[in-house]
Amino acid sequence: SELALKDATLLREECFIGGQWQAAAAGTTIMVTNPSTGARIAVVPSMSAAETRAAIEAAQAAFAPWSARTGKERAAILRRWFELIMANQEDLAVIMTAEQGKPLAESRGEIAYAASFIEWFAEEAKRVYGDTIPGFSSDRRIVVLKQPVGVCAAITPWNFPAAMITRKAGPALAAGCTMVVKPASQTPLSALALCVLAERAGMPKGVLSCVTGAAREIGGELTANPIVRKLSFTGSTEIGKVLIRQCAATVKRTSMELGGNAPFIVFDDADLDAAVEGAIVSKYRNAGQTCVCANRLFAQDGIYDAFVEKLALRVARLRVADGMTEGTEIGPLIDQTAVAKVEQLIGNAITHGGRVAAGGKRHALGRTFFEPTVIAGATPEMDIFREEIFGPVAPVFRFSTEEEAIRLANSTQYGLAAYFYGRDISRVWRVAEALEFGIVGINQGLISTEVAPFGGMKESGNGREGSKYGIEDYLEIKYLCMGI
Ligand code: ADP
Repeated sequence: SELALKDATLLREECFIGGQWQAAAAGTTIMVTNPSTGARIAVVPSMSAAETRAAIEAAQAAFAPWSARTGKERAAILRRWFELIMANQEDLAVIMTAEQGKPLAESRGEIAYAASFIEWFAEEAKRVYGDTIPGFSSDRRIVVLKQPVGVCAAITPWNFPAAMITRKAGPALAAGCTMVVKPASQTPLSALALCVLAERAGMPKGVLSCVTGAAREIGGELTANPIVRKLSFTGSTEIGKVLIRQCAATVKRTSMELGGNAPFIVFDDADLDAAVEGAIVSKYRNAGQTCVCANRLFAQDGIYDAFVEKLALRVARLRVADGMTEGTEIGPLIDQTAVAKVEQLIGNAITHGGRVAAGGKRHALGRTFFEPTVIAGATPEMDIFREEIFGPVAPVFRFSTEEEAIRLANSTQYGLAAYFYGRDISRVWRVAEALEFGIVGINQGLISTEVAPFGGMKESGNGREGSKYGIEDYLEIKYLCMGI
């Protein structure tokens, strides 16, 4: 590999199973490439159901001693892991940009964000409180215990190669669970690097394993194996439904962070410049490849033209380049399928009368680079109204009334993030309460933080990650009725 790392041992081409680094069997590898250049970065093992089973069994063996430790003891190890992640922030960011493509500044940000979940849940490990409930008769006492769910599995996507792992492993390990992670095959190197640091932090063998390879086979074992008591998944709604179905056979608990179709509403009384900046961070971060990206922008009649004009001017200035180049704001898309989808959605929008106000085509840099795009005159007949774009394209829809905006915003099966800009305080409350979304940004385009609950309604999934609520997804409630 040609990556300039201060610590080259962070780049691993082996899986971490039961505390052992395990190489691929001959002929069973996945090549990891840089989406910006097409260059090969590394090869990682393509493991199968057998290695997955070994990881699950190691997690089972590790569970009793790990869960028996005090919260404070688990917290100390998690805290060391957090510190090691931050101490290696730059190398981890370089690995991430190489395999994922996002600008280095965003990778640095994601590493800090990823680490923040480990820090947060290290602190929460000590605060898993139960309850006492007044008895229903004088000779009964009622106590509620919170206990770790057990062996957990995580399947994670390529758009946040580090943070989607720590957001699950942090609360799981803090609660006393053990975990087997399957990262996305496009971005396994960030996951393996996190395991290197977990091992260095003193994580006992088997508490955290990472298996790279074929999604169907590994996912099949993780969902079918009765030892696994919970699956946490971040990815598409389509695959989430498959996994929920597979988990039904053994009635596993699930946490699902699935797709979104975020509305971004700008009312007549909004601060237009703030709305444009909010739209830029919400829509174009990670080249539009996040599940909370604004997907449908709605601008009210009175400011529609002004908003489109300001947004288009700002978008035309976004710097598109290789993620390693300082100052890059938009890197490449993850692969050609992503580019083809974006092209198709733009073509469909133009067929239905949409006007390209900025960008609109593949970028001159070639490969999977795409021009950041604004489409004016968008209408609900367009595919782009219903589908998650996952690319740097902002369709702007026109509306006249608050009721219309709410109806359009809610007319999707998704319910993850929503955003709106306006200053009328009564309307702010009305709209915030009417939106059927789990996360609402009000005069704010960037809403992700470890201290607040992240998660969706409707087909965007179930469960919440981060915050004091995040650890509940990894805890069972046990009711003790004591006769005295
Ligand atoms: P994305 O579009 O972000 O790649 P996916 O839902 O396809 O979203 O993938 C998210 C994660 O789910 C990845 O780690 C991928 O390898 C995994 N995955 C995809 N298909 C399956 C499957 N049938 N069973 C288990 N995991 C899967």
